[in-house]
Amino acid sequence: FQGPGPPSGSSCPLGRRSLLTVLIVEDEMSYVEALKVTLEPEGFVVESAPDGRSGLDAFSRNMPDVLLLDLMLPDISGFDVLRQIRTKSDVPVVVVSAKSAEADIVTALELGADDYLTKPYSSRELVARIRANTRRLTEPEDAVLTAGNTVLDPSRYEMRIADSHFSLARKEFELARVLMERQGRIVTRETLLDHVWGIGWGDSKSLDQHIRRLRRRFEQVEGAPTIATVRGVGYRLEP
Ligand code: CA
Repeated sequence: FQGPGPPSGSSCPLGRRSLLTVLIVEDEMSYVEALKVTLEPEGFVVESAPDGRSGLDAFSRNMPDVLLLDLMLPDISGFDVLRQIRTKSDVPVVVVSAKSAEADIVTALELGADDYLTKPYSSRELVARIRANTRRLTEPEDAVLTAGNTVLDPSRYEMRIADSHFSLARKEFELARVLMERQGRIVTRETLLDHVWGIGWGDSKSLDQHIRRLRRRFEQVEGAPTIATVRGVGYRLEP
């Protein structure tokens, strides 16, 4: 076994959004254990599934921030998992595989993988790749965000949609921020409540009200992003 080595020992540099969830779909438990040892001290919450089908289930249930996907799985192939994930999500996917043929790498990238690492890999490289692929989720709190014709400026709590300027109240601003950080992806109601109101503090009614308010802003400007409702799950900002 030549899996990832010990954690790099760096302190967690991610700041506010330090707790990104990583789902590992991998049948070799020694790899899963080694990945946990590598990623947890780096501020990641690690979940795992031992085959493709349970990986797809875990994905739908937990909506992780990044997926580490093995290709050779005991039931369906990692390619099949990737194909199915891409019909519903643009979550960052890092393929981690012993397959090193160019054809496999090209296939994975064509199916929508964001990155590809061949086993054995170094734990430092893996963490660096995961960070690169989740950068937009971990940008500093004052970074200006864009989605389509909309710009969110934290220094002024302001949202600009094309030429229109809106001053947002704090909660509405935070809601826009979480949706824009994960634009194109489903954001669960729980995630929004936890990030905007704080764990255990939000309630469903205020979330609905704030979503309505933010939608009304977008509706005032042509070509603005829309907030799609994903029934029973949450919302998705479509730029
Ligand atoms: Ca495998």
